[in-house]
Amino acid sequence: MKRIGVLTSGGDAPGMNAAIRAVVRTGIGEGWDVYGIQHGYSGLINGDAVPLGARDVGGIIQRGGTMLGSARSPEFMTEEGRHKALQTLGNYQIEALVVIGGNGSQKGAYALSQMGFPVVGIASTIDNDLYGTDISIGVDTALDIALVAIDRLKVTASSHHRAFAVEVMGRDTGHLALAAGIAGGAEYIVVPEVETDPEDLATAIRSAYDRGKTHAMLVVAEGARYNAEELERYFAEHRAQVGFELRITILGYVQRGGAPGAHDRLLATRFGAAATEALVRGEHGVLIGLLCGEVATTLLSEVAANKKPLDQELLDLVNVLAR
Ligand code: ATP
Repeated sequence: MKRIGVLTSGGDAPGMNAAIRAVVRTGIGEGWDVYGIQHGYSGLINGDAVPLGARDVGGIIQRGGTMLGSARSPEFMTEEGRHKALQTLGNYQIEALVVIGGNGSQKGAYALSQMGFPVVGIASTIDNDLYGTDISIGVDTALDIALVAIDRLKVTASSHHRAFAVEVMGRDTGHLALAAGIAGGAEYIVVPEVETDPEDLATAIRSAYDRGKTHAMLVVAEGARYNAEELERYFAEHRAQVGFELRITILGYVQRGGAPGAHDRLLATRFGAAATEALVRGEHGVLIGLLCGEVATTLLSEVAANKKPLDQELLDLVNVLAR
């Protein structure tokens, strides 16, 4: 093999740059040319590719976002779009592709590999909802950002005897909310995977108030039926007697753009190097992830077909810790 391509797709995640850097430099180490595809699958369809040398990826390991740009491409979801992508790869004589991204991006990677093109995926999404890895690039940094906000809000909540509902990202899953809630010492965590009765929540907050707590902290996932705004609306409409006044804060995109911490830089570098190693072994159609502390590969067919379950052990802890 002489030439590979690398792209970032879906939501940007802190550490994507470190992964690009690792793919480029380990690829060059194998004697390959490495091309960066800009703007994810859109760039692949439109032919936006640039050669990347070792110097081109200097000074990016500490930067959030992605130097290649990212995009969501509805066209790539169609067979016609993917044929155009294959044409671009052929035009540039790219023989294998590394796809750095989350759930949807890896489904796209699988679709491309099913058309006979060698693809290796790298797990990267702050949502941490990707099957085939315990943790994805960007999660640790996004969690740290959420925790800074939660810690600050707790100070105000205590001073004013308030309940705060902090909404974190995660699309239709609660992985990020669960981890942020546990690490942030939240009294309650609302995730899409577990049905929440707002009446039960109101009772629990009221009980915390009666037990003399100075505040109540709720961490809610954006994809939950009762996310921050829905909870606020419900409590207002039903004049829920929760004791505390409720305030909501939606963290939104601030969780995404941070500079990657040490954990994400290391993880991304290991994943990038592992993607090159997989291609050297002739292994493709796989996702690079971390399983039980080890870098491991999982078939993209499995990644595309399975939903990552919430960590039951963490879920069980929520109730025990909210005393
Ligand atoms: P994140 O969840 O962190 O935002 P993601 O990779 O899950 O990242 P998506 O928007 O779901 O983000 O997917 C990114 C792109 O992957 C889509 O815009 C689309 O081009 C491609 N993609 C998603 N699902 C499929 C699919 N089933 N088949 C082909 N391509 C897909």
